[in-house]
Amino acid sequence: MAVEGGARRARAGLWARWIAPLAVLAMTAGAAQAAQAATPVKMALTFDDLPAHSALPPGVSRMDVAGRLLAAFHDARTGPVYGFVNGVQEEKEPDSVGVLSLWRAAGHPLANHTWSHMNLNTNGLADWEADLVRNESLLEKHMAGQDWRWVRYPYLSEGETPEKHAAARKVLKTRGYRIAGVTMSFGDYAWNEPYARCMAKGDTAAVAVLEASYLKAAKDSLDFERGLSATLYGRDIPYVLLMHAGAFDARMMPRLLKLYQDNGVTFVGLEEAERDKFYAADFHAEATAVPTTLEEAMKAKGLPVPSQPAWGGAELDKMCR
Ligand SMILES: [Zn+2]
Repeated sequence: MAVEGGARRARAGLWARWIAPLAVLAMTAGAAQAAQAATPVKMALTFDDLPAHSALPPGVSRMDVAGRLLAAFHDARTGPVYGFVNGVQEEKEPDSVGVLSLWRAAGHPLANHTWSHMNLNTNGLADWEADLVRNESLLEKHMAGQDWRWVRYPYLSEGETPEKHAAARKVLKTRGYRIAGVTMSFGDYAWNEPYARCMAKGDTAAVAVLEASYLKAAKDSLDFERGLSATLYGRDIPYVLLMHAGAFDARMMPRLLKLYQDNGVTFVGLEEAERDKFYAADFHAEATAVPTTLEEAMKAKGLPVPSQPAWGGAELDKMCR
């Protein structure tokens, strides 16, 4: 008993002197961690136009572009990143065959961006559906047993009339698709052509301008969309970032991912991001007035949409001509 009591007293002394303060510390750390856990900004990375997007600089292959993107995902521990495929590119650019296998070998999923990147707003729905379906055997080949039934509308065109918009959603629902939303984009595609031109001219000063403006546009758009989300919901929705599998994107990817991480971003899968109720409309067949972007959500609430930072499309177009 005495020993036991002594042991208990000893434990009590130990508790008072060491364990209790440690426990308080641990609780404080726990509370801080909980607060921090609420803070991370979740973002799903998505890449359109696999296996070939935009112009290439001299000496750079489609496989190089994919390899650099995948290495950056690996180094930043992004987790699975959906690539949206246009099968026609394998016919147009036979050198791009191998990109989809490389993407899969690195553990990243693929999904549908239609066979020929067909614009729903300027083509009939039946043709568009056929183009969507034409892509499926390629996806099935690379994604057998996996979830490739996500669609990213080319040009983000969802139908130019409410009727067509609704009919397209019905088609997608019937075929088991969900729509991959876009709630963040900084027009990354616009840097790829000037980059190829500037590299061909060996204009390193211009490339440096491209690098700085690309990162600035990414940061501006992060701040912009986060501002809208805060105004609308008082929180960060998980964002779905639209990117393209271009040569300049590949060059910039390590720096871009670091920029996001330095700003509190945690990368999540598309499925996880779209589990947020903001994206509920992406799973509905019926045409709805439910907004699918933060800009639309602002308008739906009668809130003024602040003007977006200029992302330099016109200046980019003039570079290295
Ligand atoms: Zn596209």
